[in-house]
Amino acid sequence: MSYARVFAVGLLGVTGHIVEVEADLSQGLPVVTLTGLPDTALHEARDRVRAAVVNSGQSWPNRRITVNLLPAALPKHGSGFDLAIATALLAGAGELPVEALDKVVVLGELGLDGQVRAVRGVLPMVAAAVRAGLTEVIVPLANAREAAVVPGVTVRAVDSLRRLIAYVRGQDELLEPPPHEPGPPPAGPDLADVAGQEMGRYGLEVAAAGGHHLAMFGAPGAGKTMLAERLPSILPELDDEAALEVTALQSIAGVLPPDGQLLRRPPYQAPHHTASAAAIVGGGSGLARPGAMSLAHRGVLFLDEAAEFLSATLQALRQPLETGRVRLARSQGTTEFPAQVQLVLASNPCPCASPAGDQHCTCPRVVRRRYLAKLSGPLLDRIDIRLTLAPLTAAQLTVSSAPSPSSAEVGARVAAARAAAGARWAADGWRVNAGVPGQVLRRPPWRLPASDTAVLRESLDKGLLSARGYDRVLRLAWTIADLDGRTRPTRAEVNEAIQLRMGDRNG
Ligand SMILES: [Zn+2]
Repeated sequence: MSYARVFAVGLLGVTGHIVEVEADLSQGLPVVTLTGLPDTALHEARDRVRAAVVNSGQSWPNRRITVNLLPAALPKHGSGFDLAIATALLAGAGELPVEALDKVVVLGELGLDGQVRAVRGVLPMVAAAVRAGLTEVIVPLANAREAAVVPGVTVRAVDSLRRLIAYVRGQDELLEPPPHEPGPPPAGPDLADVAGQEMGRYGLEVAAAGGHHLAMFGAPGAGKTMLAERLPSILPELDDEAALEVTALQSIAGVLPPDGQLLRRPPYQAPHHTASAAAIVGGGSGLARPGAMSLAHRGVLFLDEAAEFLSATLQALRQPLETGRVRLARSQGTTEFPAQVQLVLASNPCPCASPAGDQHCTCPRVVRRRYLAKLSGPLLDRIDIRLTLAPLTAAQLTVSSAPSPSSAEVGARVAAARAAAGARWAADGWRVNAGVPGQVLRRPPWRLPASDTAVLRESLDKGLLSARGYDRVLRLAWTIADLDGRTRPTRAEVNEAIQLRMGDRNG
């Protein structure tokens, strides 16, 4: 036997594709040829595999070796094919019984010493294997728990090529994935910790219930960050599909915690304002890494001091916010990652950022206006809720005796409101009010009576509100009605929505 085939998986964005690793050994000059669009890392694989095979006590077959990765058209990145290449090669050389690997997917990077190293993206790779009907996988020990998260798969773990060889020869067992210790996920920060800021907490609740983007303006210390980091705590848990998707993205980014649990809480990402556009949307050579926007997929992306971000970075958010996907141009084509985020912006009202608020601001008016103008083009247009938070006074901190409602209490109201909205829009495919086109809300059967929208129309006529802003108020009014348990918004909900929309005194 001088031919063997082993399965591996290549990733395109977050989607895995089965790759057949073929090895053919023939008489001729002892050279190794790799074909099938390999990138630089794959060429390096040739050297790693040779050293690993020799250092695992095997003799290197002194024949002409061709390794081919199929399908050829699929771009293949990274070092995760090493183990499959070594296995196919040894099987082709007659050192391993090929039949034992007939329906097995083999993933892992090899060290020169023959140790098997972890690779990024094992979770989506294993998911792809299962989808293709290959339900047995051999993965690096460090990735074993992560692989076992995928339903319907048998995971075997290896720490070295030597162990894999012994297993395939029937001389040794592979390792079982370390047992799961599914404790409760660590409790995140709770809304009960936020004193005062009724408007801020309410705005957050409405944002969560309707899926609305949110902007908060206010002096340092007003609690903008405290509120933003508590938004995930009142959002519903991720369903199975979303949880797999979110966990897969963390796996590809290499930031998945080693306990190998499916992530059920909506993620939270808060990139610093000095972060590059690539850090936010993703990039890197070889196997592209998702950026903060994709790591926040199905969760919250918080931009603190938003006006301090580079304009180019803010511009880079625009397309993903529109489409829910990040597209990265690569030398071998385009990589896409999902990036449906709920955006939360916070900003000081002006560059001087006086902690005492507006009274002590020393900035000229034109500077104040210019400061926030940077946000208005790419981002503020898409944001439904704009709040101005006043700094907490000592009186508010001490007098406020009743504790703030907890995240669990608020989260229950959010869940009920989302259920109402979900039922209303189910036939049209929208999950939350923020996704409903404005024209739908302006037409029967959802159009509100003129008597209820009087103030809204007046604001539009006076130029206080744009046509887009008008639609945003309508969406907010529906969310407020959902939270109030009403089947339709009335004048009261519309007026409250105007407040949430125009709470930004800076425009
Ligand atoms: Zn100022």
